[in-house]
Amino acid sequence: MTDFLSTGALPDDYRDLALTVRDFAQSVVAPVAAEHDADHTFPYKVVEGMAEMGLFGLPFPEEYGGMGGDYFALCLALEELGKIDQSVAITLEAGVSLGAMPIYRFGDDKQKQEWLPQLTSGRALAAFGLTEPGAGSDAGGTRTTATADGGEWIINGSKQFITNSGTDITRLVTVTAVTGQTGGKKEISTILVPTDTPGFVAEPAYNKVGWNASDTHPLSFTDVRVPQENLLGERGRGYANFLRILDEGRIAIAALAVGAAQGCVDESVRYAKEREAFGQAIGRNQAIAFKIGRMEARAHTARTAYYDAAALMLAGKPFKKAASIAKLVASEAAMDNSRDATQIFGGYGFMNDYPVARHYRDSKILEIGEGTTEVQLMLIGRELGL
Ligand SMILES: Cc1cc2nc3c(=O)[nH]c(=O)nc-3n(C[C@H](O)[C@H](O)[C@H](O)COP(=O)(O)OP(=O)(O)OC[C@H]3O[C@@H](n4cnc5c(N)ncnc54)[C@H](O)[C@@H]3O)c2cc1C
Repeated sequence: MTDFLSTGALPDDYRDLALTVRDFAQSVVAPVAAEHDADHTFPYKVVEGMAEMGLFGLPFPEEYGGMGGDYFALCLALEELGKIDQSVAITLEAGVSLGAMPIYRFGDDKQKQEWLPQLTSGRALAAFGLTEPGAGSDAGGTRTTATADGGEWIINGSKQFITNSGTDITRLVTVTAVTGQTGGKKEISTILVPTDTPGFVAEPAYNKVGWNASDTHPLSFTDVRVPQENLLGERGRGYANFLRILDEGRIAIAALAVGAAQGCVDESVRYAKEREAFGQAIGRNQAIAFKIGRMEARAHTARTAYYDAAALMLAGKPFKKAASIAKLVASEAAMDNSRDATQIFGGYGFMNDYPVARHYRDSKILEIGEGTTEVQLMLIGRELGL
């Protein structure tokens, strides 16, 4: 990756990747998006297609079955998918950045050899189990416990709102659990739980406002026993390690949100040229053209923010603040643009099978998942020493 990335002049390999994913999104994802959304079904065929293209292995080395690319490449793919179908994009985002990445970053050789080839190939999905009924933004409030017992961990507790946790190809959930106390503080560790372990249950899927084709479940753990070597990373570092994963994940979510924001612009431009009222295309009215101009500016600004965060991350420089800024502005751009696009589409914008209506329902979660807007502001404030 070059030190400075312009949104207008991507290096060839990145541009080619973006164009390939754009073509896939338009020709394979778009035709089935409304149907999966209406039926609340997981798009297995689309996921197979993404797997064949190597998208689940994009930022991982070839020795683990990856494509040898980087995190920015993943972001570009997410932006293209996010334009067309946020459910598909979040399935890839969660599969790679929340599912496989913790193992790549913190796993030992054996864990990497066992899990990464399955996950990078897209044959299997892993989920990221941090949130609990009483621990969301304040994820340190984890109550799930893992007790060491004769070479095993016994896990008890529950997780909620976990993406990719109950599909037919989900094989693993990485969970945070309290493994003891150090200096009067909870010791939180991360443990790998294969989904066929007795006592693990993915409860029935949620009925969500949006992201209907993405898979989300509450999880319960009742005396779930896994070998002690399933500890991921150092004991007691689980919370810190997951926070690092979330810092990166925010750049990926920002890219997805930029896709959504841009998708709304693209749909609106097309419709504003074609829809006539009072004897002319509605786009001839300055009120509509100004609205679309502002939408484009939001998408562009948010894109520069995630490019910047990705460039810092790949250069090995501090990127926490940049990632939070990117997530903040991109999620707001998606929400604002989807509201404006719905307005431009008039009554059609309120019909569920129109892409802008889907973006309107889907975009709200972008301001909540992987750290709410308020949490991003808190993090930015902390970085400023407040
Ligand atoms: C569809 C979906 C998919 C998800 N996927 C996953 C997943 O794969 N893995 C996972 O672990 N989690 C997942 N989540 C959980 C998500 O990350 C949490 O919902 C999110 O972090 C917010 O936590 P919460 O819902 O408990 O809200 P809370 O933390 O209870 O927050 C409620 C409100 O209070 C505000 N608030 C809280 N604290 C403060 C404060 N100090 N100052 C100001 N405002 C504050 C919040 O911003 C929010 O507006 C998912 C959620 C959804 C809906």
